[in-house]
Amino acid sequence: MEFKVSELEQEPIEFDLGLAPGAIDFGGEAEQSGDLASSGLAEVLHEHRGPKDIVADIRLRGRFVGRFQVPCARCVEPVEIPLAAEFDLIFRPVAADCEATERSITAPETEIGYYQKDSLFLEDVLREQVLLALPVKTLCKPDCKGLCPRCGENRNSTACACEEGPSDPRWEALAGLRNRIKS
Ligand SMILES: [Zn+2]
Ligand SMILES: [Zn+2]
Repeated sequence: MEFKVSELEQEPIEFDLGLAPGAIDFGGEAEQSGDLASSGLAEVLHEHRGPKDIVADIRLRGRFVGRFQVPCARCVEPVEIPLAAEFDLIFRPVAADCEATERSITAPETEIGYYQKDSLFLEDVLREQVLLALPVKTLCKPDCKGLCPRCGENRNSTACACEEGPSDPRWEALAGLRNRIKS
């Protein structure tokens, strides 16, 4: 969904839509499962920087709700996590801040972004908001055993033979060191 400044100048635009998986590319960090619902309001705010210097900012307020699959930080199995967040954002035209000027909007609760040419895409905003809302580290379960460093087997589902075999003395030394650090 594209918000054009020329259209927002006429009147604010309310939006309420569901985006199917694939509509937004989240890269390798997350995969959307099911619809991503988002609703809110887009409007223009005029920054009066001088008698003939008026900057048209786009203010976007809204929320999103969706489910995402994120790889477990230890075993790489997909973990399903629900995400929901609200946002209140201001976007300036890219050209407006080329010169160092004093900002006339100094609301600490709003973040400043930029829009290209004369429009802003909701999909771009949602991609960033979803990535920001993702937890820093996702585990499939708190005690995930991870992958075996020797054979790569998922230790949650398979007790691989590596542990039973005669262990390398160098690993034992390392394990001993780790135990000393722990205690
Ligand atoms: Zn895991
Ligand atoms: Zn193994």
